[in-house]
Amino acid sequence: MRKKSTPPTGAKRKLKTLPSEFETFEDAKTKRTQLIRRLTKLDTPVSRALARELAACRKESRCGSGACPVCNRAFRRRLASEVQRVRPAAFEVICISLIPESGRVEVFDLPAFDLQLWVSSRRRALQRALPSEALLVCGVDISFNTFENGDPHWCFHLYGFVLLPKGWGVQNRSKLRRIRAELERRCPPVPKHRRIGAEKVLTVGALDSENFDGAVLYAHKGGFYRRSRYAYTRKNTGKRSTNVKPQAVPRLAALELSIFLARYRLGSRLILIGFRRHGSRFDRFTLRRERDFQSSQNDG
Ligand SMILES: [Zn+2]
Repeated sequence: MRKKSTPPTGAKRKLKTLPSEFETFEDAKTKRTQLIRRLTKLDTPVSRALARELAACRKESRCGSGACPVCNRAFRRRLASEVQRVRPAAFEVICISLIPESGRVEVFDLPAFDLQLWVSSRRRALQRALPSEALLVCGVDISFNTFENGDPHWCFHLYGFVLLPKGWGVQNRSKLRRIRAELERRCPPVPKHRRIGAEKVLTVGALDSENFDGAVLYAHKGGFYRRSRYAYTRKNTGKRSTNVKPQAVPRLAALELSIFLARYRLGSRLILIGFRRHGSRFDRFTLRRERDFQSSQNDG
């Protein structure tokens, strides 16, 4: 069931409404119960320990595990309401989606992948690529990718929002092209020869700032999918192309991912530029904006 919206009071701006497709608390609980069952069945020392940790997650003492769907949902809501509280009153926004070249990890190699190190290096790369006045809220999405049911691998994918001062001109195509070129240079996406068909490895587009507060929930995903890419022939042109079908991650791989995520604190998949996070609690942290916008006239 969706929670009722809370009217903004004083300095505290709560997220006014949750998008209708945002997962419910019950959805998250169901996912957690299923995960506990599968981890118990896997029956390794690590999976049993994680199952116990998740089973002990209660309202009065949340587990805060990076693998817990219930805690992740609370983290996402906190993130969205904090971003809304500290963001500038007037801004323009660009949505970016980028699959970095370094974001491919072979299946069952997750234990050797250092998420923290990767996130810090991608943060530095994004900071170099974006205009100095930009603020960024970006998350790391992880998917299990296949092509024609072969070549299975994990794909670490950046998805987020760049906030720029009002009047910056996000509708200006040449400005967007410049940002795109800088991203290609500083945070290289999967190179052409390794792309599969029409795979989009970098998209940069303007977003209506009115939609930002709800959209920011999706910078930190709540679920992980298998992106199953397949080739087909276009009916109208006869050209070969590829498409993606989202499916559930295979069971054993999903457990590998949960065990991997449990090694990190909730929030480790988040990249912030121009915002600082205070407090270690995943559901009570606060954000502070580190700098003002240069050209905003009505900065809240
Ligand atoms: Zn939990």
